[in-house]
Amino acid sequence: MIVFLLYFPLYLISHLKPNQISFEDGETYIARKDIINIFTDGSETEHGVGAAFCNLTNDIWAYQWSAKLNDNNTVFQAELTALHEAVIYASHLPNHNTSNIHVDNRESIMVSSNSKSTNETARKIFKILLSNPTIKVSWVKEHAGNIGNESRPTGKRRNKTGQPYSHTKLPKPHIKGLLRKRMLKEWQTSWKNGDTSRKIYNIMPSVSLRPTNWIREDVIFFSQHGPFPAYLKRFHLSDSDYCSCGGIGTALHYATECIYTVSWHMGKPAPNFEQEWLKRVANNLVSRQKIRGIIKFISENRDLFRPP
Ligand SMILES: [Zn+2]
Repeated sequence: MIVFLLYFPLYLISHLKPNQISFEDGETYIARKDIINIFTDGSETEHGVGAAFCNLTNDIWAYQWSAKLNDNNTVFQAELTALHEAVIYASHLPNHNTSNIHVDNRESIMVSSNSKSTNETARKIFKILLSNPTIKVSWVKEHAGNIGNESRPTGKRRNKTGQPYSHTKLPKPHIKGLLRKRMLKEWQTSWKNGDTSRKIYNIMPSVSLRPTNWIREDVIFFSQHGPFPAYLKRFHLSDSDYCSCGGIGTALHYATECIYTVSWHMGKPAPNFEQEWLKRVANNLVSRQKIRGIIKFISENRDLFRPP
């Protein structure tokens, strides 16, 4: 197996940028602040086959996604599904950012970097990678679940202030946790306790009640983790939180007041009733369609919304 990997035929990936795919352990990227790190996973548990990815940026859980697949799906299909969702997600991030997708399954990287792959999902992944050269995919060693107890004498994992890199925040156990051991319960717990999901949690406190018909645009709007200047500023992905119209570029700004999104506007929430307003919008299909229109429009017209 090792020998095969060492002689992995490079011509297969010649259409992608040479540095886009890496089979060297990409663990060193994790501590880098200028890269958006995305971690994928596909697993089989007693509850079935699941796929997940999460975005860890500047030590902050910016986004996570998981799904249960059909019971007859294989773990390999789950790995590919996770990678596919991750590249779609990464392709919607501001395009001046480099994102590194960490995959612990070499086969799914190989098949996805092969332009002649017969696997449909792999071909979709390849196409997205081809048109998004700032998205990189690298292999990362599969971490043991007890990584928090490992002693790390080297300075490799230390961040700038000299503190040990927080092992508990390492994504692998986190996403494994999403999928393994009582999948739903774990998800519910991380949902309830995670502060990056606060905004969605306030609207949809129970994971089991969270509508499965939520699409990416809904999550982006209600989590407010998306192409909004206010979000990009907060995560140091941009210098200004102003929308090009002069207002502060929050999700609410685009839903109610931005001059560029007038055709999808809704009535503004009364002061201090933002939470109620969000709940109402989340439960109303017409409002949700408007939200989706706004997010798609912003994503497709980024230059229009760049701060002046
Ligand atoms: Zn605006």
